[in-house]
Amino acid sequence: MKKHVVILGAGFGGLELSTRLSALADDVHVTLIDQNDSFVFGFSKLDVLFAKEKTDNVRMYYRDIRKAGVTFRQERVTTIDPAKRHVVTDAGTYEADLLVVALGADYEPAATPGFVEGGYEFYSVQGAERLRDALPSFNGGSILIAVLSLPFKCPPAPYEATFLLHDYLVENGVRSKTRIEVFTPMESPIPVSPGASDAIVAGLASRDITYTPSTRVRSIDPRAHQAQLKNREIPYDLFIGIPAHRAPAVVQASGLTEGGTDGWVAVDARTLETPFEGVYAIGDCADAPVPRAGVFAEAAARTLAEGIASRLHGGTARPYDGKGMCYVEFGGGLVGMVDADFLSGPAPSAPFVAPSLAGAKEKERFASTRRARWFS
Ligand SMILES: Cc1cc2nc3c(=O)[nH]c(=O)nc-3n(C[C@H](O)[C@H](O)[C@H](O)COP(=O)(O)OP(=O)(O)OC[C@H]3O[C@@H](n4cnc5c(N)ncnc54)[C@H](O)[C@@H]3O)c2cc1C
Repeated sequence: MKKHVVILGAGFGGLELSTRLSALADDVHVTLIDQNDSFVFGFSKLDVLFAKEKTDNVRMYYRDIRKAGVTFRQERVTTIDPAKRHVVTDAGTYEADLLVVALGADYEPAATPGFVEGGYEFYSVQGAERLRDALPSFNGGSILIAVLSLPFKCPPAPYEATFLLHDYLVENGVRSKTRIEVFTPMESPIPVSPGASDAIVAGLASRDITYTPSTRVRSIDPRAHQAQLKNREIPYDLFIGIPAHRAPAVVQASGLTEGGTDGWVAVDARTLETPFEGVYAIGDCADAPVPRAGVFAEAAARTLAEGIASRLHGGTARPYDGKGMCYVEFGGGLVGMVDADFLSGPAPSAPFVAPSLAGAKEKERFASTRRARWFS
């Protein structure tokens, strides 16, 4: 009898895991469930935002998945019972021998008062499109870019967007009439990588962008166009925020977040198993000691695929290493790289490779290999 593996969420983690489990098709049948009809890389939202790509060009449709032993279902997960490994969707029910929760992180823009009414975001495809459509009518003034809550996906992304926004404003002749300020509650852009943090802070300074770390915007007043900090208010003409992130409501309701930090799914950091037998969580929804980023979701999927293979065939799986190469857009077509390793050594390390055209090529290669591996 083949084991039934049910993977909830066909994002970075779910796609990588289903691809790897396809190699075990003699022993495993995979049902991969996602509410959407397509996947979009997080970094493609920057291409949508700055109108470098039309949205349809960056979508990868799940209907193109053809993998031995993998069935994709476009359904919305409504209930997860981890004790019974039983899942209910808007179109059916599933019993899993092994259940993998890879539902990512949801956004909660309403957690910041005033943000829904008066702010813009680019973390969702719709948000990137809305900001893209608003930018042409921006004719100068003050732009605030703020990380509103921790944790958030892809720590470099706010700075990447800032560098690309600077380029956009220069190209459109309004940079000289614009003040840009960045606020973050973090003490540095990428604390694990002092090299990357120094390069980002220097890049902001060289473009005359004000950077204020360790500072949180608490709310915005859309009428007065003021952002409220702890002790002062900052006026703005355009407010761009990184919204608060939460585990999806269906995950919170399942009991899987009990014991996890701040409402994320508790997992054993070495195996990604939750306290429920045969139930795993990978990627952004999991409370593993790594940042929220696709490369770490992919690394977790790699570990779990090995774990499932060793569960079926014996042997020992390697523990999760928390490794991943993060690409950082610096504008001007240059991309830097952070070679992060969170778990395999005595302490996390993340050497930085300076921005270059070669880095941009490497990032393109990264994207095209995933597209080919997951969707061919
Ligand atoms: C602007 C931006 C830039 C980024 N750049 C990078 C980068 O350069 N490198 C990098 O590694 N990461 C980057 N990221 C982060 C990356 O996109 C995420 O960390 C990654 O996608 C997480 O993978 P995941 O599998 O955990 O979740 P996701 O990829 O978010 O997948 C979760 C899936 O679950 C589905 N889902 C959720 N709820 C339900 C439900 N109830 N029923 C059915 N389906 C559901 C969703 O539709 C989604 O497809 C970036 C993110 C952003 C926003």
